[in-house]
Amino acid sequence: MNLADYIRDIPDFPKPGILFKDITPLLASPQAFGHAVDQMAAHYESHAIDAIAAAEARGFLIAAPLALRLNKPLVPLRKPGKLPYRTYSLKYDLEYGSAELQMHIDSVTPGARVLLVDDLLATGGTMAAGAQLIQQAGANIAGFGFLVELAFLNGRERLPQAAVYSLLTY
Ligand code: 5GP
Repeated sequence: MNLADYIRDIPDFPKPGILFKDITPLLASPQAFGHAVDQMAAHYESHAIDAIAAAEARGFLIAAPLALRLNKPLVPLRKPGKLPYRTYSLKYDLEYGSAELQMHIDSVTPGARVLLVDDLLATGGTMAAGAQLIQQAGANIAGFGFLVELAFLNGRERLPQAAVYSLLTY
């Protein structure tokens, strides 16, 4: 199965000049989605991982089935004001403006090895922030996993903490 057949290019979304990689055709195919999660699970099966973390919203779509498949705790990283318990918080810069991610303070234990996943790696800003948030809690980054990597944006250079793995590279 070629997973690339299930990623659709949408020109000028969300802004003119951006070619958006739409993963909804992959989500719509249980065969393709299952194959993607299986491939990622096979890659990480032999890794020492204590938890799997992802940022909302599309990251959850990958992290949840992967966490179940690998039998690991799932850690949601969320936008401000969404998590009900006490949180660690991290502000980070975007191309225009800034954003913030939060995580429950009891989501990871100090020294835990946390795998971070997302649907897509672009500039690496989102994952770099997620990694910092996890490190703020005293945990370690076990790896960064993606369905899609836009290699021409060099996002992996912003993720020096651990190995970057992606199923599809453009
Ligand atoms: P970064 O922080 O690496 O620049 O951007 C990655 C984040 O933005 C991911 O959470 C991803 O969901 C979203 N993103 C950016 N560009 C795309 C794209 O072309 N397709 C999809 N599906 N998500 C994107």
